Amino acid sequence: MYKERDKTLAKPVKYVFVTGGVLSGLGKGITAASIGNILKARGLSVNIQKLDPYINVDAGTLNPAEHGECFVTKDGAETDLDLGHYERFLNTQLTRHSSVMSGRILRQLIDDERAGKFLGQTVQVVPHFTNAIMDAVITAGKGFDVHIVEIGGTVGDYESPAFFEAIRELGSVVGIENCVYVQVVYLPYLSTSKEIKTKPAQNAVRDLRSMGILPNVLVARSEIPTNGQTRTKLSNFCGVPEAGIAILPNARTVYEVPLTLEDQGIGEYIVKKLKLNAKKPKHDSWKKLVDSIIATPKKTYRVGVVAKYLDNQDTYMSVFEALRAGSWAEGVGLEISWVDAESLKTKTLATKALKDLDGIVVPGGFGSRGIEGKIAAAQYSLTNKVPYLGLCLGMQVAVIAAARNNGVTQANSTEFAPNTTDPVIHTMIGQSGKENTGGTMRLGDYPCSIEKKSAAAEIYGKTSIIERHRHRYEANNAYLSQYESWGIKAVGKSPDGKLVEMIEAVKHPFFIASQFHPEFLSRPNVPHPMFQGFIASLKK
Ligand code: GLN
Repeated sequence: MYKERDKTLAKPVKYVFVTGGVLSGLGKGITAASIGNILKARGLSVNIQKLDPYINVDAGTLNPAEHGECFVTKDGAETDLDLGHYERFLNTQLTRHSSVMSGRILRQLIDDERAGKFLGQTVQVVPHFTNAIMDAVITAGKGFDVHIVEIGGTVGDYESPAFFEAIRELGSVVGIENCVYVQVVYLPYLSTSKEIKTKPAQNAVRDLRSMGILPNVLVARSEIPTNGQTRTKLSNFCGVPEAGIAILPNARTVYEVPLTLEDQGIGEYIVKKLKLNAKKPKHDSWKKLVDSIIATPKKTYRVGVVAKYLDNQDTYMSVFEALRAGSWAEGVGLEISWVDAESLKTKTLATKALKDLDGIVVPGGFGSRGIEGKIAAAQYSLTNKVPYLGLCLGMQVAVIAAARNNGVTQANSTEFAPNTTDPVIHTMIGQSGKENTGGTMRLGDYPCSIEKKSAAAEIYGKTSIIERHRHRYEANNAYLSQYESWGIKAVGKSPDGKLVEMIEAVKHPFFIASQFHPEFLSRPNVPHPMFQGFIASLKK
């Protein structure tokens, strides 16, 4: 029996659980975020959370090439990229409670068992693990009108039964009338017979039902538009009323998904089912956003992102979204081209790869692969006055580049050259010797004071900011006095003046780089000043 039953009943938070079937990569995160978006548009307070059945403790050590970017919350949790979608679609700032991985819960359970907290009981998946999952859900949802919970992976994964059991049981704990279960499925198209098939979706729903969960809403993804018959068939075979079925063909932009769900009546359906006291939805600004995304721009600019992970867009998801948001706000088209950092080995190669670009971005990164190419890109930008935006590692290579361009040929970071004679970037005090482990970085929100007369202050329109961080290395203050002779300025610092947070190049159309990650605070309809400023500079 779950211990919090009575307390929870006294405060009826409504829950929306989002699960997936058939295959992964269907946009379950986008669906969860879009449901949040349309509920928030009704004046409701909404929180959202991802339960990830992976046995990892957090996403900090997952390979970005495989799992996409590591999204950092304001309180410093290293989470997966779905939290980025959530923040962008809900225009909110989440906390560590919004990201739960099995490893974290298991570790706590094992620690509790060792500490004797179970008083000799057998510690089991049900109820101990499932109760701990329910705790995590209830804690995150407290105080909100609606709490949306997405379960990672697909129904039937080896790691996930306990999570399905937990959300099933939560239905009876908080009252099934307070819960909506949404299953996201896929409808394959057979080109030979020109048919959309519903069987895999039926099977996925049956898998879910076998775990005791009857879905109330079905979101069916398909590559092409379908007709009404598909909906009727899905309804008949999956036991979900037609009104609870949304069919989502490929969208022109993911930001269209909330509007499509709304058009198909899912917002009203959920509101009714949960008996929510909701206002009329307001989607004006979101509609404007979608219009500006699909409008044909008069002019398109080419921005090169110099990086080492080239095959998976998801690795730099927030950076891309922030660049795009900047371009939508500036009313220009954006062509993002990948530049393989490892291919910029010589000055000639760098010039060849970069000469047709209107702007250069060096995003965050770890490890030495491709680092010389990133430095070369920053050197190129400084010499040729091409707009440059440096994000975290992008600031560190900018400092190295400025130093090298001005005769400090051995300038480097101790991350890549531990014994360099000119460590212009070095390990932060207190972090030395912890280079390879998870959870040892400066993470999350920290304040930064910007120098009044600087390009950075101009784009921000203020001098006090708070931004998110994820780094171990920092600019070495011993070299600050040389910055002027290198043509750069440390224009942003931690309020105690001890840590460089932003640098910019003097006499340059746009060369701004930050130790923090501004991309996490950009929203599709509220672009971040650094990104908007960068895009605006391309127009000049
Ligand atoms: N590797 C660098 C550091 O640890 C930069 C990190 C980043 O770009 N997120 O400081």
